Amino acid sequence: MSQQVDVVIIGGGIIGCSTAYYLAKEGMTVHLIERHEIAQGTTCAAGGMLGAHSEYLNDIFYSFACESQALYKEFQRDVGIDIGYTTGGIVQFAHSDEERIALSHWTDAVYLSVKQVRERISYISPPAFGAYLFEEDVHVHPEKTCLAFCEAAKRLGITVSEHTQVNEIIASHGSYQIRNDSTTIVAKHVVITGGAASMELVPGLRMSEVKGQCVQLDAQKLHLPYTLFHRGCYIIPRPDGTLVVGATMEPGLTDLQTTSGGNLALDTIAEHFIPGLSRFPVIKRWAGLRPKTVDDLPYIGRVPGKENMYIAAGHFRNGILLAPATACLIRDLICNTEVQKERIETFDPKRGIFHEANNRTEWQSV
Ligand SMILES: Cc1cc2nc3c(=O)[nH]c(=O)nc-3n(C[C@H](O)[C@H](O)[C@H](O)COP(=O)(O)OP(=O)(O)OC[C@H]3O[C@@H](n4cnc5c(N)ncnc54)[C@H](O)[C@@H]3O)c2cc1C
Repeated sequence: MSQQVDVVIIGGGIIGCSTAYYLAKEGMTVHLIERHEIAQGTTCAAGGMLGAHSEYLNDIFYSFACESQALYKEFQRDVGIDIGYTTGGIVQFAHSDEERIALSHWTDAVYLSVKQVRERISYISPPAFGAYLFEEDVHVHPEKTCLAFCEAAKRLGITVSEHTQVNEIIASHGSYQIRNDSTTIVAKHVVITGGAASMELVPGLRMSEVKGQCVQLDAQKLHLPYTLFHRGCYIIPRPDGTLVVGATMEPGLTDLQTTSGGNLALDTIAEHFIPGLSRFPVIKRWAGLRPKTVDDLPYIGRVPGKENMYIAAGHFRNGILLAPATACLIRDLICNTEVQKERIETFDPKRGIFHEANNRTEWQSV
């Protein structure tokens, strides 16, 4: 059996599903292929913060992230599926004068003195130099959001194949063939959104993984109104009254086990923000692997030397935040819509590809 589509997307995490949605909105025919199940990769391990400010890497990243936040607002309004979109924002703590000065450069932040922090959240351990509230840095439920993108894309007519591993992309007469046991899919364009496993499909692409552990606590009585954030650690209040405490940063580990070292680190984070929180009942512990690039910025763009082949992977700590903007960038490249030059350069996958490997390994052609 053979199917012909405009675009095949390989990988059904938040990046693949959002890309499918925005391409389908343009009227493209799309087949999304996932080797396991939709939203069960790194996406389901995320906290779900849209932390444009807390995760700032550079100005291009920041404007891209803000655009993504705006796209989320539009998506949750348009699509009518619950994605756990939770307003309130992120309160970033300043525990030193240097931290306070660094945060004070944001003109869109609201400064909260120690007294004001105490007034708003009486039970936290107040930061010595106050805090800054970033109201635009809301959060979503990552798994629900990924499934919502997939569902919305399906309503627009895309095909989804789960439990289907892509091992080979074959260039053939100006298009690509993707084969599995029963089907050959012929596509004009291919988008690789396989997270860190994208390395397997793009020879020479440099990626690594950074393990992160989280814990979800039952904290119905607390009613925490904001996400609390300090130096990469956080507590996220979910709408169901639970709190997600995260996350460890464990480079070089590629297992998904939760560990006693991880538990200890998460207890420390919990107590750092809210004294006594580590004694709250645990609902769930989990670990995930953040896909990391050479410079922590994602690879989004054309696969060098491969016409009509694109990659969107390596979103590290920010795949949920950047998903809609990433999807729209890929859509614009496919549709030949003008894209800001600095964006193309900043996210160009070329920067992560070894030349030697590029020369040595060729795509198999028929
Ligand atoms: C503990 C933790 C907390 C995080 N918190 C946040 C946060 O608060 N905010 C934020 O923005 N980000 C956060 N992140 C990062 C975020 O989770 C990732 O950046 C994002 O999920 C990456 O999405 P993805 O679609 O690229 O990858 P994935 O979700 O891993 O999806 C890739 C999919 O591709 C499939 N695949 C791979 N190869 C193939 C193949 N050959 N054939 C078919 N299918 C294939 C995989 O099975 C997988 O399902 C966090 C991550 C962790 C671990």
